Amino acid sequence: MTHNRDNPFIAHLKFRRRLNGQASDKNVQHLIFDVSNGGLSYKCGDSIAVFPKNSESEVVEILRLLKIAHETQVKLPFLGEKISIFSALREYLCVTNLPDQFWKWLGEIETDSDMGSFINDKILRPDPECQVLAKSHSLLEILKKFDGRCKADPNGLVSKLRRLMPRLYSIASSPLANRNEIHIVVGVVSYTNAIGNKRNGIASNYLAHGANIGEGIRVFVVNSTFALPTNAESNIIMVGPGTGIAPFRGFLQERQCVVDKGGKVGESWLFFGDRNHATDFLFGEELQTFKDSGILTNLDLAFSRDQENKIYVQDRIWEHRKELWSWISNGAYVYVCGNASKMAVDVENTLKKIAMKFGNFTEDEANDFFKSLRDDRRYQKDVY
Ligand SMILES: Cc1cc2nc3c(=O)[nH]c(=O)nc-3n(C[C@H](O)[C@H](O)[C@H](O)COP(=O)(O)OP(=O)(O)OC[C@H]3O[C@@H](n4cnc5c(N)ncnc54)[C@H](O)[C@@H]3O)c2cc1C
Repeated sequence: MTHNRDNPFIAHLKFRRRLNGQASDKNVQHLIFDVSNGGLSYKCGDSIAVFPKNSESEVVEILRLLKIAHETQVKLPFLGEKISIFSALREYLCVTNLPDQFWKWLGEIETDSDMGSFINDKILRPDPECQVLAKSHSLLEILKKFDGRCKADPNGLVSKLRRLMPRLYSIASSPLANRNEIHIVVGVVSYTNAIGNKRNGIASNYLAHGANIGEGIRVFVVNSTFALPTNAESNIIMVGPGTGIAPFRGFLQERQCVVDKGGKVGESWLFFGDRNHATDFLFGEELQTFKDSGILTNLDLAFSRDQENKIYVQDRIWEHRKELWSWISNGAYVYVCGNASKMAVDVENTLKKIAMKFGNFTEDEANDFFKSLRDDRRYQKDVY
């Protein structure tokens, strides 16, 4: 049976462990879903989409302020049967990122209250400052601000909120090594928003703290073109700092299984980086074991905060430019996973610089070279 957004699979959370040391200011978690009840297949490089749940205490507080009973039945446009408003707010609707239609609706039903004046005079005005206010208030925050004095009716409220969307996580295991499990690596998101309110990322916090071990979670696999070369004997270069390590753990597990069954695999080179070696070397022991067994030919590490001058994966790539160019010109596949806005751009620029230096390319020729690598699936990115 195919599982997708409309027909998700219920995977049970089997294991969770923080990968960083106690002293780290980062929180990256390794989670394992039990998929032994069948029906969910995947390959290395695929992602899993996870439907998160909003914080239980936040939903309880919203309903207390609105004076709406948890079991009040509501109808959601995308679900067949009626469900309780508690379940609607906890599992199906987004209560942090509130759409314009929500604010307009609330402004209209609250015309004669302080809340209505605030919404109509401050939030619904088109200038940029008001747009920031609209984007920065969660449902709970706006209710708290006006002490829950609000006439919202249950069905009106749920019809104006956005659907809670699934979040994607790169699968960090190989199906050959873990037939009944899907592993993921989750960086827990928390930050202070534009008006000074603390925000916790919904899915990452649900997975790290909210979900109980054994809990059934709605998921589905998203097939990706990010995949190992079809010829297992091809050489691979993997660049995966932070949570970007996820698919490469799967790649290395897969290659280990091939070798354990008597097969041959090509050489593998991993560039990993994070803040500090002592606390943030994610899967450090496993990676060392892959190195010792020869599955990982080269392991190069960049810990940015272990010395005064920050060192990143792209700096290690540049240090090894000659050998790296020799791998690429001899047919190695290049993979990059992790942060899209900074890391992936810096890595690509460094790779282009190497191509210009050793391939004697102009900038345009280097761009064409990487385009042709992309077309041949020899340069693949899984960035977010
Ligand atoms: C193909 C793919 C693969 C992925 N793989 C992984 C993976 O392996 N591991 C992983 O951890 N994540 C991965 N992600 C990201 C993941 O899907 C989620 O986006 C991430 O976990 C955050 O979700 P959340 O629900 O916790 O946060 P949300 O509640 O969605 O909040 C995140 C949003 O908060 C805002 N925000 C975040 N930080 C700040 C800030 N400092 N200041 C202001 N606003 C901010 C941004 O708008 C951001 O989009 C992947 C994404 C894709 C598309």
